[in-house]
Amino acid sequence: MDISVLQPDYYETFHCLAGACLDNCCRESWDIPLTKNEYMKLTGARRSKELEGRMREGIKRVRRGEKPSEYAHILIGPGRPCAMLGEDGLCLLQKEGGHEALGLICQSFPRANQRMLGKRVRSCSAGCEAVVELLWKKKEGIRFQNLPLRPNERNLRYGNREIPVEMEQTRPALRYFWEMEALCVGILQNRSYPLPVRVTMAAEVLDELGRLERSEDWEGMGAYLKATLAAPQLAQRAAHWEAKPRQSALALVTNVFFSFSLRGGSSREQALVQQVYQRLGIQLEDRMGEGEQAGLGVRYQLDRYLQGMDRLEQWLHGKEHLLENLMVNYYFQSLQPFDDLSMGIWENGIFFAALYSFLRFVLAGVMPEEGEPDWAAVRGAIVTIFRKFTHSAQLKQKMVSYLLSNGVQTLEQMDVLIKG
Ligand code: SF4
Repeated sequence: MDISVLQPDYYETFHCLAGACLDNCCRESWDIPLTKNEYMKLTGARRSKELEGRMREGIKRVRRGEKPSEYAHILIGPGRPCAMLGEDGLCLLQKEGGHEALGLICQSFPRANQRMLGKRVRSCSAGCEAVVELLWKKKEGIRFQNLPLRPNERNLRYGNREIPVEMEQTRPALRYFWEMEALCVGILQNRSYPLPVRVTMAAEVLDELGRLERSEDWEGMGAYLKATLAAPQLAQRAAHWEAKPRQSALALVTNVFFSFSLRGGSSREQALVQQVYQRLGIQLEDRMGEGEQAGLGVRYQLDRYLQGMDRLEQWLHGKEHLLENLMVNYYFQSLQPFDDLSMGIWENGIFFAALYSFLRFVLAGVMPEEGEPDWAAVRGAIVTIFRKFTHSAQLKQKMVSYLLSNGVQTLEQMDVLIKG
């Protein structure tokens, strides 16, 4: 039986902003599946006439190929908020039936309540405005707490996922999960070095662990972790990093490819990507041609992109904790480097580094040409990125496969992205 829970120190202070939230998650395009039990509970209870009407409009039964976990869906699409969301920004279902009336995903978001190798792990996604506010205020960085489980939490349902101890039989690298976490979180929080150096060092660790996993060298993995935990090679990595030339055009074009997912999204996502293109001097054009020659071409003004990146660096001065907290929070919350169990350690690491690169690219495009950026705009961009890219296994796999098939697959090549 679980007796303790590991969580970041901001966890208990999280509160949904409800009607005061500017980026309300019920207005975003999500696919929210409902289990049969959840569907029955939602539709079987007595509701007001208005809510019944809204539920008919906003919840759709899966008629063909239903699965126990996907018996129905709550429909929220681009430009179409959840039908149960009231004009005051509050959920009518929750108002009438209380928190328990909601399906598990709506009850949980943005909380991730997971069980990892027999231990409870809780955190929150940065795809939520209130969470980004909490991370912004934590200038001293995130601390992690190991707390005794309260009796009323023992039967808490799991909002996200469970990786049981037995899985170590089929994925032996999981045996070293806690050492990996201590090492990589420690590196990401080591403020003696700039954050890009810390990200590249964490990527180096994942690269080596990925190599050891592919060669099934479990003893070697244990020895590497023990030695690196005792003495992470950050100074060496920093020197290597400094000596490298910047290849900004390659980083730019790769991030433009990632941004295509936003172009086809909600009006908020489209507006964000348009602003980024405009401020960084990026234009897309239809490329005439046949087969692989056809598609979208990218025109860019490298000087404008570099100016945008410089503006971001200037703005981040004294605020470096923001990106550190976002990346540490995501590393912890996504159970890296086992975020996507269908991928290897290094492939998960590729996504992690690409996310960091894309985050900087978008934030550079949010910086105005003159004056300070509006914090609400910066926060909104962060929420959009984490909501879009970290809650979809398909998008993660798409980004990783783009990088692998375009020759960005080694640590040296990932450094180009991290450097920007
Ligand atoms: S984004 Fe966060 S704060 Fe806003 S409505 Fe959703 S859970 Fe609440």
